[in-house]
Amino acid sequence: MRIGIDLGGTKIELVALSSTGEIVFQQRIDTPKDDYDAVIDAISQLVDTASDCLNFSSQQPLGIGTPGAISLKTGLMMNCNSTCLNGRALQQDLAKRTARQVRIANDADCFTLSEASDGHATSESVVFGVILGTGVGGGIVVNKNLLQGVNAISGEWGHNALPSDRLEGFKLNRGRACFCGKADCVETWLAGPSFQRSFEQLLQERNLSGDSTMQQTTASPVEIVALARSGNEFAAECLEQYCNLLALALSNVINVLDPGVVVFGGGMSNVDEIYERVPDYLSRYIFADTVNTRFVKARYGDSSGVRGAAWLWPDHQ
Ligand SMILES: [Zn+2]
Repeated sequence: MRIGIDLGGTKIELVALSSTGEIVFQQRIDTPKDDYDAVIDAISQLVDTASDCLNFSSQQPLGIGTPGAISLKTGLMMNCNSTCLNGRALQQDLAKRTARQVRIANDADCFTLSEASDGHATSESVVFGVILGTGVGGGIVVNKNLLQGVNAISGEWGHNALPSDRLEGFKLNRGRACFCGKADCVETWLAGPSFQRSFEQLLQERNLSGDSTMQQTTASPVEIVALARSGNEFAAECLEQYCNLLALALSNVINVLDPGVVVFGGGMSNVDEIYERVPDYLSRYIFADTVNTRFVKARYGDSSGVRGAAWLWPDHQ
């Protein structure tokens, strides 16, 4: 059995996976707000409940997935959206409280590990996992092992610069500020809200130049894709440009890592056009004359994070 816990800003979820990957226990609770001790209590109670139900041993370790990370400088949590976790020794505190071994990884790493372990990326030895959601994250798994790196930033392509000047006919204004302090990070162009922003900019420019008769000034990513499929030229152009930018951003990863498969998660991973168009565009950008890389949608969708947390203990039976 493997126990995974997804510690999110609004929910904490625990799953127990059988040795064959089936969920044999699952429970979800609200994340206590702004109270670190209450978070530790809540996780401890979840583990006790699962333990009572499944009767697992005191040696059973725990894997935790969280949007934040452990600072290599301090050993304390940082970048958590539940800000009460930041600056706290979460791993040590949970290990002490539950009297179990605890491993922690960020949610993009857990996602990639899940898909490489028993998802849609099991057949390749090098896997690049991509989350295209409200932000852009990534993780690298080699031979079923998570690659962490000496700076603990393996896979963080969301904050690479995206050289959009390589795109022919690129019309949008560059210089998008990123929360990390830099401009034109991959995330500022490929996150779901960034896709929406591109659509709004494109429409605004066309309306100003008198090229568009569209009344609306905005649309959600799901609506933009629906518009594109129904023949709306602005939405279609925006979606095409998104696939082109995604290919360009991935080419920088593929030229270095050359993964056998790229597995996509997050809201934008549900856009089927990505899987058709990205390989075509990629051939323009990578330093090779063929594209053998496979591009797949996650098998477990939103559950990949908590499943991957369980897989942080790959050999534990
Ligand atoms: Zn950034």
